[in-house]
Amino acid sequence: MAISDGYIDLVEGDITRERVDAIVNAANSSLLGGGGVDGAIHRVAGPDLLEACRAIGGCLPGEARVTPGFHLPAKFVIHTVGPIWSGGAAGEDTILANCYRSCTRLAKSMGLVSLAFPSIGTGAYGFPVERASRIAVRELRDAVDRDPNLLTIRVICFGDDTFRAYARAMEDLLD
Ligand code: ADP
Repeated sequence: MAISDGYIDLVEGDITRERVDAIVNAANSSLLGGGGVDGAIHRVAGPDLLEACRAIGGCLPGEARVTPGFHLPAKFVIHTVGPIWSGGAAGEDTILANCYRSCTRLAKSMGLVSLAFPSIGTGAYGFPVERASRIAVRELRDAVDRDPNLLTIRVICFGDDTFRAYARAMEDLLD
């Protein structure tokens, strides 16, 4: 299943299969591997990815770091760290927005034009997907508006519930 609003292509699928300049990883702050999308990315990229992450030494929530994609079809992996949800009054919205901004800024600085994002924060970190999807859609649309070279932004939803939440956010947030 796939839909587009002219800014974002929304797809249900597996981000490790995306042949783009960079896929985004929802990592933890050690960058030393976890479950969820991070585990899937490391499995396909191979052990060199963990070595590259170890050399970086960590990443604060809301920031982003880049590595090669190794055995992934994507050229690069942009690792970002979402907020750990603790009720919504601890700055989670801002940190999540910063994740999207840090990733698109880093991509722009490297001249990358096609990106694929997972639903950052809404797995193990517990961010409610309805709220997260609105922040993601708003930030990614702004990034496309700011950077005319950013040709393709794909959001890869793992499962129907996530896909439907993002589709609703794209409909509700009219320009
Ligand atoms: P976080 O710790 O930021 O919550 P998770 O990896 O636990 O990160 O979850 C983020 C999102 O990534 C969830 O919606 C989860 O279902 C999704 N996800 C898990 N595996 C994949 C995959 N292979 N491709 C795309 N999304 C995935």
